[in-house]
Parts: sequence; C-alpha cells; structure tokens
Amino acid sequence: MLPEKESRVLGLIDENKQEIIEYLQKLISFKTVTPQDNTKVEGDDSKGLQNFVRNTLEEMSFSVDMWEVVSSELKSFPGSGDIQNRDLSNMPVLVGKLEGNGKGKSLILNGHYDVVPEGIVENWKHDPFKGEIEDSKIFGRGANDMKGGIAAMLHAVKFIQEAGVRIGGDLTVQTVPDEEATCMGTLACCQRGYTADAAIIPEPTDMKVLVAMRGSLYGKITVFGRAGHAELTQPHWSEGGAVNAISKAMKVIAALEELTDEWRTRPDKRHKFLDPDIIIPTVISGGKWQVTYPEKVEIQFGSIFVPGTRNKRQEIEEKLRNVANNDSWMKEHPPKLEAEEWSYGAEVDENEPIVKMGMAVLRDLGFEPALAGFGSLTDAVHLVNYSKIPTISIGPDYKSAHMADEFVEIEQLINTTKALALAIMRWCE
Ligand SMILES: [Zn+2]
Repeated sequence: MLPEKESRVLGLIDENKQEIIEYLQKLISFKTVTPQDNTKVEGDDSKGLQNFVRNTLEEMSFSVDMWEVVSSELKSFPGSGDIQNRDLSNMPVLVGKLEGNGKGKSLILNGHYDVVPEGIVENWKHDPFKGEIEDSKIFGRGANDMKGGIAAMLHAVKFIQEAGVRIGGDLTVQTVPDEEATCMGTLACCQRGYTADAAIIPEPTDMKVLVAMRGSLYGKITVFGRAGHAELTQPHWSEGGAVNAISKAMKVIAALEELTDEWRTRPDKRHKFLDPDIIIPTVISGGKWQVTYPEKVEIQFGSIFVPGTRNKRQEIEEKLRNVANNDSWMKEHPPKLEAEEWSYGAEVDENEPIVKMGMAVLRDLGFEPALAGFGSLTDAVHLVNYSKIPTISIGPDYKSAHMADEFVEIEQLINTTKALALAIMRWCE
C-alpha cells in the first residue's frame, strides 16, 4: 500500500491521461531537429517549443531562466570534446526552479527537446511531426526520445501540485537542446552553476534504472604511401620505389579489428551493464588516379568505451606503433592519429540513494526493478562528470528510437509520469 498522498497523485495522473497525451502531441508538433553541422534546419521551432514549456513552468510557479548558449564561452575540460565551434543560437536552454521549504533533498529533472532528423518521410506511415495515435501508441519523432519524457516530468510536477502535496527540496527542471549532437545544452546548465543532490533524465529506458553509459572517441588515421606509376615495376621503397598506401591501410584496419578482439577479452573492459570497448572504421578514402600508386589513405573511426577508460587515444596509438614497427616502410613513415577526446562515459554507483530510490519506485509501481546500461551516451555524462551529480534515467520503451514511425506506448508514458511523481515526492520530501 502506498501512502495516501502518493495514491492521490497517481490517481490524478490516471484521471488526466488525456492531458498528458495532448501535451506530448503538442511537443512533437514543434520541429526541433538537431542540426548535423551549423546549418539551421528548415522550419526549426526550438524557440516555439521552449516558450511553450516556459509557459507551463510559469503556470506552476517556477522561476525561469532561458538563454542562448554561446559555445565559445563554455569551458573545455578533459572529456568535453570539441565544444567551441558549435552554433547554438535559436536553440535556447530553459531552466525552471521551484524552491522547496528548505528541508528535503534537491533534484534536477533534465530532458533534451532536440530530436534526430525524421529521415525518409515516405518510410513513415504517420506524420513525423503530428503525434498521431494508433493502437494505444503516440507516433512522431521524439515520441520516446525524449519529448515523452519531458511531457512526463512536467506533468509529474503538475499533479503533485494539484494534489496539494508540498515538497521540501528544491526542484530544477531543465529542457535542453543538442543532446543528439554534443550534449552542450546540459553542459551549459552545469557551467551556469545549476546543481542538485541528484538528477533524473527520463530518457527511454523501458522502465529500468539506467546507471551506466559508454564514452566515445571519434577520429582519423592517415596512412602514408609514395606515389609512382602503377604500370611500371617499382624498386623497393628504400631504393626510391612507390609504396601503396591502400596495402598499408589494410594492415592498419586489421590491427584495429585485433584491438576490438583484445578489448573483448580484457578484464578491465568487462562491465556489469555494458559491452566492452570497440573501434570501428566508418569512412575510408584514398587514391586519386587509376594509374598511380595511392600516396595517402584516410580512415575515419569511432571508438566506444566503458566508463573506466581514461585514455582511449593512447590505447589506439600503442596499437598503431606496434603495427608500424612490424613494417619497414611504416616504421619510418608512421600512420598519423588525429582524435579529440569526445566524451567520457558515465556511471553511478548502485548504492547511491537515488539509484535505490529509483528501484523502489519501480517496484512499487509493479515493475520488476532492474538496473541497466546504455551502449551510447546521454546528457548524464556532463551531470555526472562535470557537476558530480548522481544521475539516473527512468523512462518509457525505446524500441523505435531514431527509427521511422517512432512511437511511445501511452501506458509507458503514463507509467513514466507516475514513476517521476513518486521519485520527486520521495526524494524532495
Ligand atoms: Zn535521447
């Protein structure tokens, strides 16, 4: 049996399902696609969405702070990646603060309102920006990742208030841009000084408590050769002969694959909730002319790694040194590695009170409580690494995240709202 005030709030959420559904439909109707580069996406209405959410927060007596981030003013730090050249104008960050009575613990609720592009519209049965309903599901880009989470967190607060439940600790709500690209919206909140005893990001987790995510490093390896006529017999390279950069690149790629195999068996790469590190060549280019030995090959790669990893670049560099040392040409003309540390992963100890509370909330709502990891990353990286805030995610199903016909099940949307409502009441009590 739940305490009476909790039952009252959950009851209100059930009675007002339709309001939460319509709110999510409205959020989906604002086009807020993350730009790939600094070119603005046509029809972008990030400001419209943020003004709409701002209004909701003000109706709930939050004091609000809305601003546009100037990325060159953000501080770089190890694991922050390349954060200086991103244009974040017209994608405002919004923070609402509701002061408690000074007794309970403080909490941040954080959600990103940007979404990945809709992709090929013909592959959608539903309009990506309408929030159409079919089979008890709401369809649209961002339905689960994560406008659904934003609708849930705002309504969790709303129905706590409508039930007349007072909370003790300060509550901060953040709606941020650019999670799908750089996570700088949240970084900007951290650097503006917003902090709390814990944070919850209702990213889709299929009603599990997400506590760990992998970091990522992206970069480029340049492999060198020496140009020469491809139809003529070439002397050894030491006597001035041509060298095929593609043949050398094959050795490098084989070494990268070996590296992934090595990581798979290394104890320090084993993680309870996450797969071991990988490195994947993703783009390759080389050679200019059919009758000329290629003198350069560029291999772009992505490497994803468990949170304990502190110098991924060095691990790759060592492997490249090894492969170069076993090849007389490459020993003298070593491959060049260029890689910016993009972001560390993040993890929160299972014994953190916020983790235990998340598990208890799920149990009380009738779910089998479970901890989970996420192979990619979320805004939690900055809350955990930069601001040292223990952060969990609890949210709806994610089966269709980033796909055509992305949807959220209405039941899961409502359950997420309930989970957040219980979490807020218990944490901030
Ligand atoms: Zn997301």
